[in-house]
Amino acid sequence: MKLQALREEVCRANKDLQRHGLVILTWGNVSGIDRGEGVVVIKPSGISYDALTPESLAVVALDGTGVEGVLQPSTDVATHLELYKAFPDIGGITHTHSTYATMWAQACRDIPCFGTTHADYFNGPVPVTRSLTPDEVAEAYEKNTGRVIIERLARMNPMEAPAVLVAHHGPFVWGAGPAQSVENSVVLEEIAKMAAGTCMLSGSAADIPDYLLARHYLRKHGAQAYYGQSAGNDKGE
Ligand SMILES: [Zn+2]
Repeated sequence: MKLQALREEVCRANKDLQRHGLVILTWGNVSGIDRGEGVVVIKPSGISYDALTPESLAVVALDGTGVEGVLQPSTDVATHLELYKAFPDIGGITHTHSTYATMWAQACRDIPCFGTTHADYFNGPVPVTRSLTPDEVAEAYEKNTGRVIIERLARMNPMEAPAVLVAHHGPFVWGAGPAQSVENSVVLEEIAKMAAGTCMLSGSAADIPDYLLARHYLRKHGAQAYYGQSAGNDKGE
């Protein structure tokens, strides 16, 4: 994706956080990567979503050095960079403190896959990381947040579970591009809400059976996907 187009998509994606009710104040950020150029475009720190323009976004090299922009990038940029370096299929990342997903993160609990709404997007529970150690927080808090996410996702395909909950903090969500990372964040918040309600209604709610999880996940993803109007069609009703 060309840099100007990426700036426009990242700007729109950040504004969409507010439109979808995923953020208040400036509690969230979206980034996107141009892998050809090796640069990441991200929301600047502390700037309101209404004031964002494509030109106001911060552009940083994948190695963390500044490239363009007069405004400082989001303080979470080091977390985003670790994830882009570890997972080459990721094209966009969203971080919010959306209420229900953050409740699960604060409870330090995976979000169980109770039903098909969840299974349509996530091939299993949404995992929660371990807590960072005092040394990890003191040494390089945001970079080490990325590292505990990567540690938690070892042996998992990040594109089959495009979200993680950072313990005591909140969700990091990704996708093929910035817009898809926001869409996945909307879905995550909704399934987090549904799962919280399911637990309230039934203390013994069971995970969705494996055969139903596989049926729902695979009808929208992978080589045998058949949902929608053509092979490889996008998700959604
Ligand atoms: Zn945060």
